[in-house]
Amino acid sequence: MAKVFCVANQKGGVGKTTTTVNLAAGLAKVGQRVLMVDLDPQGNATTGSGVDKRKLELSVYDVLLESASVAEARVRSDKCGYDVLGANRDLAGAEVEMVGVERRERRLKLALEPVQDQYDFVLVDCPPSLSMLTLNGLCAAHGVVVPMQCEYFALEGLSDLVNTIRQVRANLNPDLAIIGLLRVMFDPRITLQQNVSEQLKAHFGGKVFDAVIPRNVRLAEAPSYGLPGVVFDPAAKGAQAYVAFAREMVERIRTM
Ligand code: ADP
Ligand code: MG
Repeated sequence: MAKVFCVANQKGGVGKTTTTVNLAAGLAKVGQRVLMVDLDPQGNATTGSGVDKRKLELSVYDVLLESASVAEARVRSDKCGYDVLGANRDLAGAEVEMVGVERRERRLKLALEPVQDQYDFVLVDCPPSLSMLTLNGLCAAHGVVVPMQCEYFALEGLSDLVNTIRQVRANLNPDLAIIGLLRVMFDPRITLQQNVSEQLKAHFGGKVFDAVIPRNVRLAEAPSYGLPGVVFDPAAKGAQAYVAFAREMVERIRTM
């Protein structure tokens, strides 16, 4: 049975998509069967996995509106070694089209059930908001992975997310847990980042992943080649950090 994880943080530009595609590629590299679900209408995780979002015949939009199954809408990214349930601009309309639909926040969860046995991991890239789309991700998930930059306001932003997760747990998905906080775009030369990193560990303890993702230009270049950094330049520091993170995730789910 697949473990489903949302990569979420209501802030934009914090490394959600980079984390989703590189964790997916890292997990594939260590032999895990992975489905990557793009829940962001921007479709960056789709493009960043080598899938042309403009040419998608079916996408996560069709799945949420129940006009296609996951098995019909997913595509294989051969270069990356995982399956992709892609997204494009169509998805921006889903929110409105789903108003009034019963149990609309559970659509993704239900849609994933028939393919549960085909994967070890399902990773969901969430948009930078606490919208119906993100709610679908959180309802479907066993846990949330929170990428964060070690900056001054990081902790403040985190409390909104923690509250949302608490509400989702109380009302919709009692199993939902924060699996961990992942420090990304980390620069050890910056004292403030070290301080925030220490604060995070003091406050969240074991919830802070051991793996730390450095700021690394190869990770930022990779999307323009339609690849996760892990595939684009496996030797780069950033790529190696994501593979170490993938190994850590495999360990974590053993104890879940
Ligand atoms: P989000 O999905 O949260 O909006 P992205 O993953 O798209 O964030 O990242 C925002 C920007 O930062 C992108 O241009 C991405 O390439 C870049 N980026 C993300 N992680 C790193 C990193 N570790 N090192 C350098 N650049 C990064
Ligand atoms: Mg994104």
